[in-house]
Amino acid sequence: MKTDQAPILVWFRTDLRLADNPALTAAATATAQDGTPVIPVYIREEDGGDPWLPGGASRWWLHGSLERLGKALETLGSPLVLRSGDPATVLESLVEETGAQAVLCNRRAGPSAIARDRRVGKRLTARGVTVHPHNAALLYEPGTIRTKSDTPFRVFTPFWKALLSMPEPPRPTRAPSGLTPPAKPVSSESLKDWGLRPTAPDWAGGLRARWTPGEEAARERLAEFLDGPVAVYATERDRPDHDGTSTLSPHLAFGEIGPRQIWHAARHAAAQRHELASGAEAFLRELGWREFNHHMLREEPDLPDTPLDARFVHFPWRKDESALHAWQRGRTGYPIVDAGMRQLWRTGWMHNRVRMIVGSFLIKDLLIPWQEGEAWFWDTLVDADIANNAGNWQWVAGCGADAAPFFRVFNPILQGEKFDPEGDYVRRFVPELAKLPSRWIHKPWQAPDGVLREAGVRLDRDYPRPIVDHGAARDRALAAFGHIKTSG
Ligand code: FAD
Repeated sequence: MKTDQAPILVWFRTDLRLADNPALTAAATATAQDGTPVIPVYIREEDGGDPWLPGGASRWWLHGSLERLGKALETLGSPLVLRSGDPATVLESLVEETGAQAVLCNRRAGPSAIARDRRVGKRLTARGVTVHPHNAALLYEPGTIRTKSDTPFRVFTPFWKALLSMPEPPRPTRAPSGLTPPAKPVSSESLKDWGLRPTAPDWAGGLRARWTPGEEAARERLAEFLDGPVAVYATERDRPDHDGTSTLSPHLAFGEIGPRQIWHAARHAAAQRHELASGAEAFLRELGWREFNHHMLREEPDLPDTPLDARFVHFPWRKDESALHAWQRGRTGYPIVDAGMRQLWRTGWMHNRVRMIVGSFLIKDLLIPWQEGEAWFWDTLVDADIANNAGNWQWVAGCGADAAPFFRVFNPILQGEKFDPEGDYVRRFVPELAKLPSRWIHKPWQAPDGVLREAGVRLDRDYPRPIVDHGAARDRALAAFGHIKTSG
């Protein structure tokens, strides 16, 4: 292969995979045609003012993901170049160093990221460098699924129907078989020096025990899920005690797998084995919620900060640091809430049903603004995704698109009893309650003294009493909602 051509820079971001990566595929096609060198780059962005740069758990994941992507690219022939700084400046200097003619990348989500990309585009174009963004993260480009009157959908079901009536999303492409490296090696920073993994203290033991980042793990997990568990997804997906969901969300958040790959694999599995069909359909519908949130964020860039329902700007929220702290640490006295918050803290992930329960508790029982929950999730989730996080927090708060009405307040005891009937989920994450009989596990403060004694539970010492009385908190929430119901 000739290597005297001007190279192409492939700028990786939230698309850390080789297969079905349109930017990489386009670069690899040029390599195959005329030997154009390809330089894969990842830039650690250091804009202190942007609250949506990766949080702690995401940084841990990112390290593992980049490590694996780096190895895979090395095998293809062109190693990953790591650089830090403002992306426009870093790319300009890479263009200078390498004589690159074009920068290929895949679009990413979020208003601040989009603004940065726009700036990068302008600066590079001014230097005569082509910048070409592709769609790797979504089934369809935002803006392509609209109502008959050409407005964005605000309700999920019609959005989903409209999505289903679109032509099938493009079939995923394979990973390239090789890349031509640049004639002269390009210097790279060292991933280790980036300090993405925590050291003092090293709080990531639970994450290491639970997850394997990277494209290969994502592919294996999808295959495993479609090989059987998907059959009962429609009924099992609400059971935190059964682990009945795909757990693909962190892989999706980092783009180690793309939604088109999932879509076609699930459809194929359902066509091969009829018994998987209804589960696969329910599973793809959830992927549809992801799509819905991402399309909405493109239309509503303030979604992460500002309630869609403007009345909520005037909601009489409370400031209560100690209640917020109890919630974050899983010390509210409501076992299902505490189990969820500790699952999050320990593993960087929480079951969807429990996310709704803990969200409702923060917003409605504690009257703490949803943005506080959103920020905590952003820092602690390995699947933190700006569109899904914001869309879901607004949904739980009752101010988002197609949201549950505010007056529907989850009862944490009944939710626990319904979705974790034997208390196995609570026992796993709140071990101090492990010996309590199922009858009391979701309301230990109501258990007779003898039962508590036998289970070795001393309330207030081993496990807290509820920090609020749910009935009274619910009344308080409804009264607060009454203040804004008629305004706006
Ligand atoms: P599965 O049930 O296997 O679903 C498959 C995929 O569909 C998921 O990986 C995800 O991409 C998508 N999906 C599933 N449920 C939803 C949903 N309710 N909304 C949007 N997409 C969905 N998801 C994130 O990816 N990142 C977040 O930051 C995030 N924050 C959330 C905050 C709150 C308050 C709530 C209630 C939900 C949040 N979710 C978020 C949505 C959901 O909880 C997770 O996507 C899901 O639990 C991931 O587990 P899974 O991969 O096993 O999902």
